[in-house]
Amino acid sequence: MFDAPETIEDLFAGIASLGSEPPPENVLPSEEALSHARSKLQAQLPIEGLGLEPTIKHLREDVCPGLNASSRSSRYYGFVTGGATPAASLADNLVTAYDQNVAVHLPGETIATDVEDRALTLLCELLKLDSTQFPHRIFTTGATGSNILGLACGREHILREAAAVRNDSTTSVGEIGIFASMHRAAIHKIQILTTVPHSSLSKAASILGLGRASLIDVGLPDAPHRFDMTKLRKYIEAPDAASIVAISAAEVNSGLFATTGFDQVREIRNMADMYGAWIHVDGAMGIMGRILTSPAHQTILDGCAGLELADSITGDGHKLLNVPYDCGFFFSRHPEIALRVFSNPGAAYLATGDSDDTIISPLNVGMENSRRFRALPVYATLTAYGSDGYRKMLEKQVELSRAVASFIMDSEDFELLPTTEGTKEELLSRIFMIVMFRAKDEELSKQMVTRIKATRKIYVSGTAWQGSPACRIAVSNWRTDVNVDLPIIQSVLEDLVAAWKKGPNQLE
Ligand SMILES: *Cc1c(COP(=O)(O)O)cnc(C)c1O
Repeated sequence: MFDAPETIEDLFAGIASLGSEPPPENVLPSEEALSHARSKLQAQLPIEGLGLEPTIKHLREDVCPGLNASSRSSRYYGFVTGGATPAASLADNLVTAYDQNVAVHLPGETIATDVEDRALTLLCELLKLDSTQFPHRIFTTGATGSNILGLACGREHILREAAAVRNDSTTSVGEIGIFASMHRAAIHKIQILTTVPHSSLSKAASILGLGRASLIDVGLPDAPHRFDMTKLRKYIEAPDAASIVAISAAEVNSGLFATTGFDQVREIRNMADMYGAWIHVDGAMGIMGRILTSPAHQTILDGCAGLELADSITGDGHKLLNVPYDCGFFFSRHPEIALRVFSNPGAAYLATGDSDDTIISPLNVGMENSRRFRALPVYATLTAYGSDGYRKMLEKQVELSRAVASFIMDSEDFELLPTTEGTKEELLSRIFMIVMFRAKDEELSKQMVTRIKATRKIYVSGTAWQGSPACRIAVSNWRTDVNVDLPIIQSVLEDLVAAWKKGPNQLE
């Protein structure tokens, strides 16, 4: 019926040529290109298919020019988009070509699950986590998926602990459900104690029947991203509540870390052990800070020190790891909890492996049954660039972020957020890969994000900080180069202010 590329070599050649093209000048297609592409989309399902050749032509000429080339540019600073390294892009296309289903560990038939496990242990090495301490590890669809796993495991654990301590009984949410488990454990409330959490944590709480309202802010009044330890202790001690402590390792708006060093995480760990709580780290971006080594990055290193004491950790692949969408990862210390939550019960045909094989079938420790081979791009990119390559990529991203922050601080027209006391050097030392700022002119601040995006030269996200509009630059692309990118960012911001000062009416 249709021809796929004849050989893997053809496929590689095609992708390799794509990778060597320079990134697009504009970070977004023009509005005309977008509406043209939209108008060309199939209005109805064709009865007789167009066939492969015309379809490829249609994709090339009509659809793709209107697609967002964001991740191919190092000047797309919206969200935390990440890019895709050439090795990861290539491998991702192989994934499609091979179309493996990585659900069941079938060591006599495929090494796909071995590759997944190896990619995850290599990742542990990169992130300076002892993989033997995190035997439950799996790739997910992204950090949201990983946060769902983290809260699901936490929910299972804390009610089991409460039932054991209070009633000398046992329970499993996976088995008898949350309501019966809470009853058995004499728990009236499950609370997620956290500071400026990512929105996906509320979503995870909603999906898991804990409810968005179970998130409780235990941040400091003057540094909302950081834990107020007294408040945390007060909540965790509540007699009829069971707690999950969620550490925001790099908060999504500011890139700041919830904890300030090993000792603080140790203290949280002690509290959690005392009261049967679970510690989950949302390290979608921040966990990557652990690969840095320079004294210039000490504040970041302090922010991700001690995270190895957590019960579970979320990381993102399609952000700073720069593999294509969809890829997140999840590590937990407790494989038995994973099996209680995720086991596909009774599917005898899915039983696998001999007893000395430690790889668990992914379908028994994660959300999905059939799954994409999302381990391969991670395996490929870690193999291609190694720990040094990744450290250097991240160093360049921190360098650009700090250069932008420095420009903002020196400028008369902009203000770095959050506004805190400190010397310029101190403030810069806290910058990881996100720069949040606003224009001092309130009206300009309101319009700034739209105006910056309209240039198509750089892309930024709008956000709100303490009730007022703000602009956020998230640097997350492997191509980042301060010499190339900084002058463009500066000129966009300078032009913006110059045009504004001529009179707001001259801008439409
Ligand atoms: C991006 C992000 C998420 C959500 O990640 P997805 O990969 O988009 O699901 C969760 N937490 C934090 C801190 C993030 O930055």
